[in-house]
Amino acid sequence: MSGRVIIVGGGIGGLCASIALRQAGIETVLYEQAERFSEVGSGIQVWVKGMAALGQLGVAEQVRAVGADVNLHQFFTAGGAPLYRADLAAFAHEYGAPAPVMVSRTGLVDALLTGVDMTTVRLGRRVTDVRQDDAQVTVTLDDGSEDTGALLIAADGINSATRTRLFPEVRVRTASYRYARSLVTHPAPFGANTFSMFFGRGNRIAIGDCGNGELYWLVGLKKPTVPLDGDNGNLKADLLRRFRSFPEGIASVIEATDPAALIHHAVRDVEPIPTWGKGRIFLLGDSAHATTPNLGRGSGQAMLDAITLSALLRTTDLTDNDQLARVLADYSGRRKPEAEALQRTSWSIGNITSWDSIAMTTARNFIMRTIAGRKQIAGIRAQFAEASTLTAATSGG
Ligand SMILES: Cc1cc2nc3c(=O)[nH]c(=O)nc-3n(C[C@H](O)[C@H](O)[C@H](O)COP(=O)(O)OP(=O)(O)OC[C@H]3O[C@@H](n4cnc5c(N)ncnc54)[C@H](O)[C@@H]3O)c2cc1C
Repeated sequence: MSGRVIIVGGGIGGLCASIALRQAGIETVLYEQAERFSEVGSGIQVWVKGMAALGQLGVAEQVRAVGADVNLHQFFTAGGAPLYRADLAAFAHEYGAPAPVMVSRTGLVDALLTGVDMTTVRLGRRVTDVRQDDAQVTVTLDDGSEDTGALLIAADGINSATRTRLFPEVRVRTASYRYARSLVTHPAPFGANTFSMFFGRGNRIAIGDCGNGELYWLVGLKKPTVPLDGDNGNLKADLLRRFRSFPEGIASVIEATDPAALIHHAVRDVEPIPTWGKGRIFLLGDSAHATTPNLGRGSGQAMLDAITLSALLRTTDLTDNDQLARVLADYSGRRKPEAEALQRTSWSIGNITSWDSIAMTTARNFIMRTIAGRKQIAGIRAQFAEASTLTAATSGG
């Protein structure tokens, strides 16, 4: 029997698992259904703990080189009144933790690929079936061929067929609002190295500096008027109408966006799963804990999964079922609480920031300016403190 680990999925989670397992001296093969690595357009924030995990994987500086440090998070009302701000550069300095990075998704994947052994990657190969017994796990590929390994890591995303096989009862939930997003070449209207967010009534927009003259923007819409498969020209016109009254600079960013580069979609997450695997099949990244993207931390969770699991597997005899059962319990025990807390927080933030009545948005803005803002800043500070311990582990400190 092969002692290899089969990784299904070459998104951010699968690529990080591939790097981490190679570092742990474990043989892997990665199957990705797409013909080439391509994250759909737009940008992504790699949060502080994600950057610390990438430091452990030896690719943090490659990611930083193609993106922009996020030095400031700033939140405003639709009229431009400040709600709260978090000085991330100061936290990074205070805790010796890495600054978060905003980067294009393509840039992130290219940077991750610098750490991947491409001889272990099989592109254009879709896994159509997965089964296991006491000794091995077997995958069937779309050309009918099979491969076996000692363990399978399902990093096959929110629609994971592997998760559905193991836990058919677990549902994907759809939030009450939609997102539209894009990447655009445009000067940063609210400052370089900043992430800025404006909350209106049922409409909100976030704008982040990705470096290289590019901005990532993302809009949340409570009552969308253009259907999901509707014309992007109409979507852009609708967004311009909604955000015309927001502070100067926002309409210009939307105006500069090519309708063909707009991505419009439902917002979803995955219900908590009892345990992140069964037997010789483990789940990682969005397949285990997809989160509504309201905090920009989902990919960091996948990165943390990868370094946690590879550290546990480093000293594991993959032929020993008892050892594998202990690793699964340990992996789930270490990672689930944080990932599920993030899912819950993000779900409620998504709902609250989508409110559209005058009374509720006025109350929300007051709370954000006071209690909630202070709580958020304290939470962010704690994230930097935690990230510094991961960074210290990498540097041997
Ligand atoms: C709008 C939006 C904004 C976001 N913003 C942020 C952000 O700013 N910061 C952040 O940290 N996170 C963000 N996230 C979350 C982040 O994108 C995800 O957490 C992350 O991409 C998950 O990576 P993954 O590898 O687990 O899954 P995926 O990226 O979905 O990768 C799964 C891969 O598996 C492959 N695959 C699936 N089935 C098979 C099969 N049967 N055989 C072979 N291959 C298969 C797919 O082709 C795909 O490449 C955002 C998400 C969304 C939707």
